Amino acid sequence: MSHAQKGPLYLTNTLTRRKEEFIPLRPPHVGLYVCGPTVYSDVHLGNVRTFTTFDLLYRWLRHLGYTVRYVRNITDVGHLVGDVDEGEDKIAKRARLEQLEPMEIVQKYTNGFHDVMRLFNILPPSIEPTATGHLIEQIEMVKRIIDAGYGYEANGSVYFDVPKFAEKHAYGELSGRRIDELQANTRDTEGMDEKRSPLDFAIWKKADPTHLMKWPSPWGEGFPGWHLECSAMSTKYLGQTFDIHGGGMDLKFPHHECEIAQSVAADGHAPVRYWMHGNMLTVNGRKMAKSEGNGFTPEELITGNHKLLEKGYSAMTVRFFMLQCHYASTLDFSNAALQAAEKGLERLMAAMDVLDKLKPAPAPDAAQDEAVKALAQRCHEAMNDDLNSPVLIAELFEGVRLINSANDGKVLLSAAAISGLQELFRAMVFDVLGLKREAQAAADDKALDGLVQVFIQMRAEAKARKDFATSDRIRDQLAAMGIVLKDTKEGTTWQRA
Ligand SMILES: [Zn+2]
Repeated sequence: MSHAQKGPLYLTNTLTRRKEEFIPLRPPHVGLYVCGPTVYSDVHLGNVRTFTTFDLLYRWLRHLGYTVRYVRNITDVGHLVGDVDEGEDKIAKRARLEQLEPMEIVQKYTNGFHDVMRLFNILPPSIEPTATGHLIEQIEMVKRIIDAGYGYEANGSVYFDVPKFAEKHAYGELSGRRIDELQANTRDTEGMDEKRSPLDFAIWKKADPTHLMKWPSPWGEGFPGWHLECSAMSTKYLGQTFDIHGGGMDLKFPHHECEIAQSVAADGHAPVRYWMHGNMLTVNGRKMAKSEGNGFTPEELITGNHKLLEKGYSAMTVRFFMLQCHYASTLDFSNAALQAAEKGLERLMAAMDVLDKLKPAPAPDAAQDEAVKALAQRCHEAMNDDLNSPVLIAELFEGVRLINSANDGKVLLSAAAISGLQELFRAMVFDVLGLKREAQAAADDKALDGLVQVFIQMRAEAKARKDFATSDRIRDQLAAMGIVLKDTKEGTTWQRA
């Protein structure tokens, strides 16, 4: 299935604010960069939505036959509490509060981030570079910006000269901000004694002697500005101009605007051809925020352990729920909507079980062969239309009706129609939407636990009658199968090796 036969892919380019045909620079290769997390705290649900959106894009590009290099960074230095040039480094602050090394904080929350990504079946990127691993590339980029005349040093820090850049280049194009309005609305911030204009931003910050994370540079000991890492790492792995850059909508300004300015200043090229931004989450119609008390974590959503949640919802229910909404729209969490998604996903998976066992009718209706082909075409067109996953899911439910009617003998499907449906559902549900059969996995786990409990009981009885040969044999044979028993004061528990 080559993409040429399947029609063009259209994506909404947030730079031009238009839906545009996606034409990669070097087909069949596609370069994709997505801003990853700052690893100083647990992943929040907004992050999960953003990374699910770009997982859907990654999966769809691969389905179309592209070879995708997907770069998603880990921010492990330089992201300040004020999100601009103010305050402490987020990771250094957390390290101080938890009394850990900054790199222990980075490792802890990187591990947690990866666990959550796996839980939601979000595929790992091709490259996951870290900011601290690319200090040399960042320092080189600062030098290029200074050499081009758009950066200046002041007291050991280096700032990007926004008004000077804006004289020759577009600044504010992505976020729709105008330089004169920005100038009128910007308040004086920290570093104003060093900055020529309040619009200027740090590309290198001087570190004071107590600072935990600092490196030598031509301007003294310091650390890179937050926006710089994405420019340096996307250039290194994807080139000075690449296909798609994604991120949450909240990153448009200043982060992505600054990325564009840095690349244009350093290398003379606009870095990105298609910008894509995912929208935000709300809860019961209100913005999700810690201060509102409605910002539950992925874990709370799954366990149901939050005052706003009536119960827990599985990771696949949450993934399915998110994909029922177009990525560019806001998504509202409510118990009613989550429960509807749970039922919908059950119906979809039940239909796939029926489909696996469906037998061709002895006298099939030839018209249904065409109906299945048309359904597959509509599913494909939905995804090619700016990743319209809600329409794709609605089309799949047309397929569910067809499958259930065939199962009831009301529709007569040929072997070709059935295999067409099987191919379509496997591709769209598992590969593209990235859903998994978790009900089955949970049932298997429950059955396994029941079996292991029987052996634990038999072993306890053997021990009680001092038949240690038998009790040891039960333990060792279970261990050989990867099931490890652990004796505690409360009794014996088990876990997978
Ligand atoms: Zn970034």
